[in-house]
Parts: sequence; C-alpha cells; structure tokens
Amino acid sequence: MAATTDSTMLQTARAMLKNSVTRLTLSRELTELISHSWRELTAAVPVRMDDGTLRLFEGYRVQHNAARGPYKGGIRYHPNADLDHTRALAMLMTWKSAVVDIPFGGAKGGVALDPSALSLGELNRLTRRYCDAISHIIGVNRDIPAPDLGTNSQTMAWFMDAYGSTNGHGYTPGIVTGKPIEAGGSYGREAAPGRGAAMVACMALRDMGIDPRGATVAIQGFGQVGGWAARTIEEQGAKVVAVSDIGGGIYNTKGISIAALEASKGPGQLVSAFRGGDPITNEDILAVKCDVLIPAAIENVITSSNAANVQARIVVEGANSPVTYEADQVLKEKGVVVIPDILANAGGVIVSYFEWAQNIQVFRWELERVNHELDTIMSRAYAVVRETAKNERVSMRESAYDVAVGRVVKAIQVRGFVS
Ligand code: NAD
Repeated sequence: MAATTDSTMLQTARAMLKNSVTRLTLSRELTELISHSWRELTAAVPVRMDDGTLRLFEGYRVQHNAARGPYKGGIRYHPNADLDHTRALAMLMTWKSAVVDIPFGGAKGGVALDPSALSLGELNRLTRRYCDAISHIIGVNRDIPAPDLGTNSQTMAWFMDAYGSTNGHGYTPGIVTGKPIEAGGSYGREAAPGRGAAMVACMALRDMGIDPRGATVAIQGFGQVGGWAARTIEEQGAKVVAVSDIGGGIYNTKGISIAALEASKGPGQLVSAFRGGDPITNEDILAVKCDVLIPAAIENVITSSNAANVQARIVVEGANSPVTYEADQVLKEKGVVVIPDILANAGGVIVSYFEWAQNIQVFRWELERVNHELDTIMSRAYAVVRETAKNERVSMRESAYDVAVGRVVKAIQVRGFVS
C-alpha cells in the first residue's frame, strides 16, 4: 500500500463524527458523550502453546455506546489490533447499527496476534481465555460479539462454548453471532455483508442511471466480504473485471467468471493462481477503470497518495474504513460517489441481529426469509441516506453519519440518560 501520513483509523472516525456534530449543531455535552468510548478493557490473555511454553497476548473489548440497544461488534485477531483500532471500530459499529435502524449499540474486540501462526488447538485455548477475560462485561442483553478479520464461525462456536461452560449460563447461543449453523447460527449470515454491499452498489448504479447488468466492478479482497460481494454482483448481471487477495490479483476487461475462479481455487489457494486474466497488484486494482470499486480487504488502502488515481464512479466500502479522511475529501472533489462502510457492509450486523433474535426465540428462519428481510432493511436504509444526502446537499457518507448520529442522540435524550 502507498506510504502516507494520512489520518489513522481512529482519527478518521473522529473527524467524520466531528463534521456531523457540527452539521447537526449538537451541544458540547452530547458531543462529549458520543465522542468517547463508554467502557474500555485491556486484558492479558495467557495461552499454553503446543510446545509447552506460556505466551501472553493482549486482548481488548471496547464498548462505545448502548443507547439504542446492547453493545454489538466483532472480534478481530490481527497483528495490528490495538486499543486505538478497537476504539475506532467500536464507534463505527454504533453508527452502523443506527443507520440501518437495528436495536444495537456499538462495540469491538480484538487480540493482537497473527492467527495463521497458531494451531487450531492454540486458537481454541486463546479464544476461551479471551472470553473469560471479557465475560464480566458481556451478556445476551448486554454485549454480543461476532467474527471479524482473523476470526470465523469456528471461533464463535468456541466462544459460545466457553461462555456457557464457565459462567453457569449453560447453552447460550445468543452470546455471540456468526456461529456455525450446527451451533445456533443463521442461514445467510456468512454471505450477508458481501451481499449487502453488492445490493447497495446496484442501488447506487441505478441512481446514476447505470444498469447493473453489464456494469463493471473491481474488488480488492476475496474473503468473506469480497467473495460474497463478487458472487452476488455477478448474479445481478454485473461484470467483475478485477479481483484480488493478499497475494495480488487478476484483471480482465472481458470479465472474470467468479464461478470458474472458485471452481479452480483449492483451499488456501490465491486468486492470482487463476488463469482468467492478467496479473494486477493490490495498488493498481484501486485505479482500474470501472463503474464500481469495492475495497473489501483492510483499512486505509485509499489514501491521499492514491485517491486521485481512482477511476471508478462509485466506491462501495466493503471493508471498514478503507478510505482515509484525507482521501475522502479527494474523492468528493473528483465527484466519486462513496457508499460508506457504516451502510455498505451493514449486512453483517443486520443478519447478526436476525441470528440473535432467532436464538432468543429458539426458532430458525429459512434462508429466503433472512435474505428478504436483509434486502428490505438495506433498501430502506439506502433510501433514507440517499434522500437526506439530496435534501441536505451532502455526500452519502455525511448523510449516513447525520442519520446515524441523530438517531443515537435522540435515544440518549428520550431515555433521560443525562439529566
Ligand atoms: P477475510 O479475512 O475473510 O478476507 C480478507 C480478504 O482480504 C482476503 O482475501 C485477504 O487475502 C485479503 N487481504 C488481506 N490483507 C490484504 C492486503 N494487505 N491487501 C489486499 N488484500 C488483503 O475478512 P472479511 O471478514 O472479509 O473482512 C474484510 C473487511 O470487511 C474487514 O475490514 C472487516 O472489518 C470488514 N467487515 C467484515 C464483516 C464480516 O462479517 N466478516 C462485516 C463487516 C465488515
């Protein structure tokens, strides 16, 4: 990625909130309340490694705001996980739940480590220790974790098992979402953030008078979010012209068959091994000429150093915070429409909400119902953000923030939280 002195993820999150607070003319007291985390926990996570040694990892859980419902947010296992990252992501979760109007607040967790360097047994023991370290501040009606970078449904199954067996809660599937189907997961949860991103991309295309059928799309990241975004947008008739993962990518102006790419890809194999296009780097994929660019890998990939090179007409933020604050200003000046992360990848938390509701009701929904309700909520949220952007003459990001922050503030006020 390009070297840059752009804002960090936390600085970007705070700057975007600051602008929204100014537009909404919020009081100093309310501004202070929503600008800070409500609770932050840093804990030692000791793990007995396979070779018999004990290693100490650092774990975090940050609870930003719960005015609209229990705290909700993923757990990230990544070498860069630290308190500031977790703070930024927790804040984003508050706005994400609010902008799509589901009854959750915002939180995030993480452990600083490279999960690929640990065995399954070590990851299982680490997850149980981490669960133990944060168990006194979470709960089915209090704070509900989920997967994020470096964690998956298996991690959530271990977490649920650890929570139930060490706290006397017994079988408690509602303590985490993103679980395997066999352990109380929901149909459609894995596909949801990518599917939602693809759906809002199609809505944005239609708004610009472009038929999604035949529209060209470039996707950086081919994991849970990028992979499902690719499959869904291909189903909608769009042409994926470039796709990449951590090992680089492929580019083909005639279109890349996602089905053929997946059929040829063995477990752990990289996208670049597929012979369906020319090689392309992760930097160049951001500058591909296309209608829609979906950065769906990691944060801070579009910066002030490369934003001017973006040729897409629409950027859909599949990842969290892939565009820095400075780059966002460049894209705005260029007239590139950015569908912000808090709306674009909210499909994940929406189906997490469905999973939580199913766990509480002990009643499973069919996939058709999940997808139908997901599409309804995403379409409604997109329409509200689009309408506000038009009426207030602000960008889609500014509009999404104003809608979300306004709802959180309203909940704080109506609950009489500050008297
Ligand atoms: P993942 O681990 O399943 O996939 C990440 C993909 O990005 C992989 O293809 C990986 O090879 C690629 N990648 C990693 N580092 C890269 C780099 N430096 N350059 C280019 N590609 C790189 O992760 P995911 O769950 O798809 O999450 C991706 C992003 O979406 C993250 O920002 C995450 O916070 C966000 N997100 C995830 C969810 C979810 O439910 N999984 C929901 C909302 C947002």
